[in-house]
Amino acid sequence: YFISFEGLDGAGKTTQIELLAGWLEQQGMAYVRTCEPGGTPLGIEIRRLLFHQPELTITPLAEAFLFQADRAQHFQTRILPALAAGKVVISDRCFDSSIAYQGAAQGLGTELIAQLSHIATQGHAPDLTIFLDLDPALVHKRTSASDGRREEQSRFDRASEQFHIRLRQAFLELAQANPQRIKVIDAAQPAERIHQNIVDLIKPHLNQ
Ligand code: C5P
Ligand code: MG
Repeated sequence: YFISFEGLDGAGKTTQIELLAGWLEQQGMAYVRTCEPGGTPLGIEIRRLLFHQPELTITPLAEAFLFQADRAQHFQTRILPALAAGKVVISDRCFDSSIAYQGAAQGLGTELIAQLSHIATQGHAPDLTIFLDLDPALVHKRTSASDGRREEQSRFDRASEQFHIRLRQAFLELAQANPQRIKVIDAAQPAERIHQNIVDLIKPHLNQ
């Protein structure tokens, strides 16, 4: 069973992933916790290129391919083998992020990024995607509050509220188009309540 978490920065993905990992552990379920970009050794290098080389010019299209290269490696070497071994996979972001960030917000086009993602994933997709829906007006507040603890900053972290509004719209459209797979959860709720919602969504699928 493959679960991805999506959301704007500061939506609480890390908190929810930790709560879910703890819950899976309690259930005695084998799981793999991973992320995009950066879920493989190659991905860590790609992440370094994307976020730690501010002097490096990367065109939007080249950047989109770097995210897809990370994904191709991630699916082939990490996600697909774990699923084949019967493990639960939890990924912090997956291709919906590319569709929203590179496709919609960066303007490369959601269709193009969906096609590239389909190639990178070999046609695979999460069974469940949790979109933690955060008011774009709160993004700046939440991310600047945690600035001191973050050792890396996305080139988008300080982007305008308009950018975050486009992003959120893109995620909501993806959820509308894929209502079975993508569940929208109000990220303003208390973390424990969100966690319960997520457990309720997942539980029926784990009792094989
Ligand atoms: O979620 P994480 O903090 O690992 O993502 C790092 C940054 O990369 C995020 O701030 C996000 O804005 C950006 N990102 C992106 N396109 C993706 C995935 C992440 O622009 N496909
Ligand atoms: Mg993050």
